[in-house]
Amino acid sequence: MSHPTLLEQLQQDGDFLKLTLSNPNALEPFNFSLLDDTIVCIWDTGVICFEPKQLTHQDIVLSCGVHGNETAPIEICADIVQQVLTGQITLKHRLLVLFGNPPAINASKREIEENLNRLFSGQHNDTAVTPSAERERAKKLEGYVGQFYSSSRVTDLVPRNRYLYDLHTAIRGSRFEKFAVYPFLHEKPWRKAQFEFLQACDVTTVLLMQTPATTFSYFASNTHGADAFTIELGKVKPFGQNDMTRFTKVCTALRQLISHDTVQTVAFDEHQFQLYQVYRAINKQTEAFKLHFADDVENFTSYPVGTLLASDGELEYRVEQPGEALIFPNAKVAKGQRAMLMVVPTTVAGNVV
Ligand SMILES: [Zn+2]
Repeated sequence: MSHPTLLEQLQQDGDFLKLTLSNPNALEPFNFSLLDDTIVCIWDTGVICFEPKQLTHQDIVLSCGVHGNETAPIEICADIVQQVLTGQITLKHRLLVLFGNPPAINASKREIEENLNRLFSGQHNDTAVTPSAERERAKKLEGYVGQFYSSSRVTDLVPRNRYLYDLHTAIRGSRFEKFAVYPFLHEKPWRKAQFEFLQACDVTTVLLMQTPATTFSYFASNTHGADAFTIELGKVKPFGQNDMTRFTKVCTALRQLISHDTVQTVAFDEHQFQLYQVYRAINKQTEAFKLHFADDVENFTSYPVGTLLASDGELEYRVEQPGEALIFPNAKVAKGQRAMLMVVPTTVAGNVV
């Protein structure tokens, strides 16, 4: 079934974000051909797939708005989609762009009912909890990513080059403004080419995870063998208040990624990166959980060994390691959830290809 009005409007202004936000819960799928060389498929609200007619070995997923109030990545992805739709960018590779949680974007909230980025790798199926809009969306997003990766017309290259960059901004400031989370690879080597791409995006702080997670990036990495990252681009700001000049490098690198054979990078040198690994996760166990530092403390702040970081009723959490730094502190999480990660400096030497 065709949607002449939606289609005409999208062809005219290329504003897929506007279309998504005016239909936040669902959008009937429709397709059209762009300049005769790319098929554009709208699969759902916030889900747009581009298939260049020219065969390609790269399947690229860009996602944003998994947390609805993280506006800068939403603006970046909306611009990219608009530039493709209006012919300012010619795609070289298959591209799927996802606006994760449209109702939360409309509400300018991180989430409507629960944290969407804790519901992947099947976590949305947990039958012990009540269904939520986010659970439904997580299941659908998993399906779309699977459909995208498996529907390539080129099958001679196995494994294919699959990528997923899930773009976020953090609730608080960071000692290192931009940083990436490299999902647990189950002892497989980290990739130099990916560190090089991150550096081209102005991201030189990388947190290397050592355990499975229920994040979107771990799902793409573990289930589909994609090079996948959660990328934090700075601090949350309302729409229109982001200083887009702070994102020039990441915007350039993303545009190169989708429209060129290669991205301009410099050779990987570990010394140009701040690499961290998780030392421990601190989970909120009771409603008495309390953080013992100021609300505006930046991610990657470290304190002397012995400093009291948090308390949870009788329990006390103090700094245990020199260089131990805190990240993602949030006392408002639900009981049982992670309230803070503690990380320590590390190296990829010996396990990078
Ligand atoms: Zn986020």
